[in-house]
Formats: sequence, C-alpha cells, structure tokens
Amino acid sequence: MNPKILIVEDEPAIADTIQYALETEGFDTQCLAAGRPVLEILESAAIDLIVLDIGLPDISGIELCLEIRKQSPVPIIFLTARAAEVDRVVGLEIGGDDYITKPFSPRELAARVRAVLRRGGATTAPAAAPATEFVIDESRRQITYFDTPLELSHYEYRILRIFIQHPGHVYSRERLMNLAWDEPESSMDRTVDAHIKNLRAKLKSVRPDNDPIVTHRGVGYSLKEVI
Ligand code: CA
Repeated sequence: MNPKILIVEDEPAIADTIQYALETEGFDTQCLAAGRPVLEILESAAIDLIVLDIGLPDISGIELCLEIRKQSPVPIIFLTARAAEVDRVVGLEIGGDDYITKPFSPRELAARVRAVLRRGGATTAPAAAPATEFVIDESRRQITYFDTPLELSHYEYRILRIFIQHPGHVYSRERLMNLAWDEPESSMDRTVDAHIKNLRAKLKSVRPDNDPIVTHRGVGYSLKEVI
C-alpha cells in the first residue's frame, strides 16, 4: 500500500505540480481546492499526510490545522506563499509538522513528505492522552487538580475542560470562545484573557510552583503536556 497524501491547495497549477511530483515518487494522492471538506475526508478515509496551503478560499490553513488536530494526529506540511506569513515556531505550535515556502521545488516537497512520514508523523500527542493531574467529574461539573476540587465559574470550567481533553493543543482565543461560549459573538477576546488569568490564579493557589497553562504569544493558549 502506498502512503496516501491529501493535497489541499486552491491554485490548480500548484496542486497539479505537487500531485505529479508525489505520484512520481510512488505516493497515492487526492487533491482538494478548499479546506473544510478535509474534516469529512479524515473521518472516512485513511490519510497518511496532508500538504496544506495556508491561503485557502474557505478557511485559513492554520485554523483548519487546529480543527484537524482535535480529531487526528495526521502529519501536516504547510505551504505558505510568504516566509513571514507564519514563522516556524507558530506553525509547529499550531500542530503542523513542517512547512515549505512557495516557490518550492517539487522534489524538495517530496523529500519533506518522506522525511515527515519516516519520523512517524505528528509531533503533537493524540487527543486520547488526558492530562493526569486533573480529574473531571462531568455530572457534578467539578474538576479536581492534584486531588483538590477547584471552585470554577461556568466559563472557567468549560475552558479548563477543553484544555484537559486536549493537552498540548494550542487554542486561539477565537476558537476557545467558539467552543466555550454560548454566544461567542457577544464576547470580546479580552474576556478569554480574563478567564485564563483567573484560572491560573486558582491553579496556583493549589500548586504555587506549577503553571500548567501555556501562553503562545499572538496565537493563544494550551495546557502543558505532562511528560
Ligand atoms: Ca492559496
């Protein structure tokens, strides 16, 4: 079985070039000109790696990567038109495995694909590994942290629960709002920051030397993975 590569690129000439290069190297490929269908395809097909353009017509590649990471650790190589569009750190914090800037040589891309596949895929842990210092009691809407029950507001509970279920996953403020808020559009970004600040204080009151929430400047927040 050849590895199956999903190419998500809205410019046909570039998509064709990538497809030709990868098929020449013995990969099976499928091309998509928009991002949102990727989530459905991942549910029904075995995809070994995604080559993901950042500038897509329906959703940014970065936002899509965050979505994909909620359901799959499939390796992702970003394509970007400008090196400044996303720096290496941001791309990888978001859950991408590598990136390549346009214009690129098809041969170089194929080499990157092989390297990422050889490395064994995603650098992020699968969502199935929960953060162990936390325990969620859904029926009581209660979270304990190192065996200490936390007194959390409605949104603090929701935010922390999202983090615990996906440790290491970086959430943008917008994404957190969409997941945790009943009416996201009525809230402001700063509200997320305020809740995070309160959460940090509450966690710190249990373990003063531990700050499990990580700030990703200009990107968002994640919960530290326990190694
Ligand atoms: Ca594009």
